[in-house]
Amino acid sequence: MKFAENVADLVGNTPLVKLGPVAREAGVECTVLAKVEYFNPGGSVKDRIALKMIEAAEASGELKPGGTIVEPTSGNTGVGLALVAQRKGYRCIFVCPDKVAKDKMDVLRAYGAEVVVTPTSVAPDHPDSYYSVSDRIVEETPGAWKPNQFFNEFGPQSHYESTGPEIWRDTEGKVTHFVAGAGTGGTITGTGRYLKEISADRPESEGGRVRIIGADPEGSIYSGGSGRPYLVEGVGEDMWPGAYDPSVPDDVIAINDQDAFTMTRALAEKEGLLVGGSSGMAVVGALRVAKDLPADAVVVVLLPDSGRGYMSKIFSDEWMNSYGFVTGGDEKTVGEVLR
Ligand code: PMP
Repeated sequence: MKFAENVADLVGNTPLVKLGPVAREAGVECTVLAKVEYFNPGGSVKDRIALKMIEAAEASGELKPGGTIVEPTSGNTGVGLALVAQRKGYRCIFVCPDKVAKDKMDVLRAYGAEVVVTPTSVAPDHPDSYYSVSDRIVEETPGAWKPNQFFNEFGPQSHYESTGPEIWRDTEGKVTHFVAGAGTGGTITGTGRYLKEISADRPESEGGRVRIIGADPEGSIYSGGSGRPYLVEGVGEDMWPGAYDPSVPDDVIAINDQDAFTMTRALAEKEGLLVGGSSGMAVVGALRVAKDLPADAVVVVLLPDSGRGYMSKIFSDEWMNSYGFVTGGDEKTVGEVLR
């Protein structure tokens, strides 16, 4: 019989799927492959770092049997931590600012996690802030451990050990470009480092060294912005996290919200890929790179999560229009988004 002992054993080994209509409309001649991370059991790329960070903390003794995982997170990382914690018998407490949608908190609670809600409108050093409250829970809870995803080296390490090797294996060593967004930076740092190392001596005639390209929201510091706000979730930063190594990406492209969201909707409509806004943004980056490449190039783009969590935002015309984004057939075509 072929079965997994536990859902946590299903983390990783996500498929690659070739982009069809969207790539054709963009005038792309080379192969563009999407690595679809919503196939992970918690529905996002974050399952990978959750598993690795927990295993590493067990190995170092920081997390002991019966311990409690405490992390300020409202989204995908919480789900990953919760499902791994369940199998291993740890308690989870997640701290969320009150701006986070109730649906997201309910998902965490459904997995058996406890959610502590903090006010959004207080300064980071205020005792009621997201950061202060999570630190206080760690201090007051015996056996508490905080993964600290923005600074945990095992985040990027999980991608160095899984995402990178999977891409190399599944493309049979033919990948020439890797495109991803950066939130903590773990994905691009770990995957990119692996792909650059493994291809370091590949002859130019076989594609040379893999090029790593960051796709970043306009305004984020990774692409030279000031940290000003944007609406794509999960990516971009206004500070430099320890999980991001700026020497890994060869280039970082800035992409605006409208283009990211137009592509996100096109991926659902034309490719059957219902993904989140950071996926649409990454695909804009990938196609901008791909349209100038020869036919034998192989571009891999990572799609971090599913679109189900964004139905009342990106997939709602009302929400889109309220921010001045164009919908209803008047938006730019895929080809125009890439110009
Ligand atoms: N997209 C989404 C939806 C995410 O939640 C995250 C993680 N914050 C990312 C992209 C970026 O991944 P990473 O933290 O590995 O840079």
